[in-house]
Amino acid sequence: MCGIIGLVHPKTADLKLNNASYEVYRALLTLQHRGQDAAGILSYDEEKGKFRGEKDLGLVSQVFNLENLEKLKGRMAIGHNRYATVGTDGKSDLQPIVTGYPFGVGMVHNGNLVNYHQLAKEFSDNYKVQQLTNNDVEVLLNLWCHGVQEKRDWDAEISFEHIKASAKNIFEKAIGAYAIAGLLSGVGLFGMRDPQGIRPLILGKKIWDKEKNLVSHCLVSETTALNFLGFEYVRDIKPGEVIFIQEDGEIHSEELATPKSASPCMFEWVYFSAAESTFEGKSIYGVRLNLGRVLGRRARKLIENNVIRPDIVCPVPDTSRTSAIALAESLGLPYREGLIKNRYTQRSFILNTQDKREKAVELKLSPVRSEIEGKNILLVDDSIVRGTTSKKIIQLLKKYGAKDITMAITCPPLRHGCFYGIDFPKESELIANDKNLEEIADYIGANRVIFLDEADLKEAVEKNDLCMACVNKKYPTSVEAGEEFARQRSLSKEGNA
Ligand code: SF4
Repeated sequence: MCGIIGLVHPKTADLKLNNASYEVYRALLTLQHRGQDAAGILSYDEEKGKFRGEKDLGLVSQVFNLENLEKLKGRMAIGHNRYATVGTDGKSDLQPIVTGYPFGVGMVHNGNLVNYHQLAKEFSDNYKVQQLTNNDVEVLLNLWCHGVQEKRDWDAEISFEHIKASAKNIFEKAIGAYAIAGLLSGVGLFGMRDPQGIRPLILGKKIWDKEKNLVSHCLVSETTALNFLGFEYVRDIKPGEVIFIQEDGEIHSEELATPKSASPCMFEWVYFSAAESTFEGKSIYGVRLNLGRVLGRRARKLIENNVIRPDIVCPVPDTSRTSAIALAESLGLPYREGLIKNRYTQRSFILNTQDKREKAVELKLSPVRSEIEGKNILLVDDSIVRGTTSKKIIQLLKKYGAKDITMAITCPPLRHGCFYGIDFPKESELIANDKNLEEIADYIGANRVIFLDEADLKEAVEKNDLCMACVNKKYPTSVEAGEEFARQRSLSKEGNA
């Protein structure tokens, strides 16, 4: 899972519109929660007719400063926040990536190709194409270039017809989740979303001067970035749609691959997106309130049957705070912050090793003894993946005197691997894969656990068509290549890829 943005400013002498990289940088800051491993920006400098790029490991604020942003000239740019789910921690695997042949194009993407290794091998076997990175965005870029090359009349300008040919090539061959933004040298910005719409991509615009038709456009992972930049939301790019924003602001789009049913990832609402964002017309905050209310229904039954007698509702900060508030309201119980988060540490779930995740819990959560000691706690969290983080949190609460802990989770048990951009491709890593509810509670040290079921989740999101494959194994694409993907991922985490 990553954060992406592409932006095109209008052609004007107004200097503030000549540096798209600055807006891209600000957008990446607001998308930091989507990936904290690395960040990168690529711009197109029209004056010099060349791409300019900067990318490095670290947070956006560590990678960029006024000096290097100044150098990323041009009114068109793309940017990326990396959360590694494929490839290594090495610099060569960072995005954006760029090529000059058969046309100058830079690309960023959010998601994962299930058949990445297969496609990389096909390129190597059939065309002797050497992969320069361990990142699936390179395969997407190669597919894009192949599509345009087959269609291209070398005397003609790159047009929407070429972009459609490239997008079709990707839609036909790439299996998995991908939301793409691409920068075409001197030509414009394109974007596309996989035929199942697993990952988000949103179109926004900002009108600077209506009479002079000075309008900027952007494609971005979350609406929170639009708000921050002062852009207005236009629409979600549809599953299987390709969009082309010409350098003069003219927009072309077409749905090239129609899905049987769209399958946006339920985890965008449960955990991943910022609370203030909206995805597919559904407010993330609103859905999290619903999740808390639905969970409240389950907890009420247990209270009525004298199974639990919670004194307080307490969130594991930050994501589950919204649901915990709604849950407390629905049960008429006090809402208390029993754990305070150090705001300067990273989200633990998306840290890429177990060791880092466990250390992050120690660093980021401080217990509030006065609210915990002697209490029966209804503890709310968004998910239990491997169980080790929950175990640490419960140990901490018990150490500070919690009497009884019911862990209430705002999604169903995760039992199957994800191949679409969240880093748990192996079933065997998941605590719920081979444990029932009592065993899960035992393992994490809670007195009991409550999960939502699939119907609860659909009710809360108010959508039936969702990817819930990590819950029900109903993958929206073929996952024939999934085993190889999981094997390669393990190797790269061990540094052997
Ligand atoms: S498998 Fe789970 S985490 Fe992965 S895309 Fe589907 S719902 Fe999201």
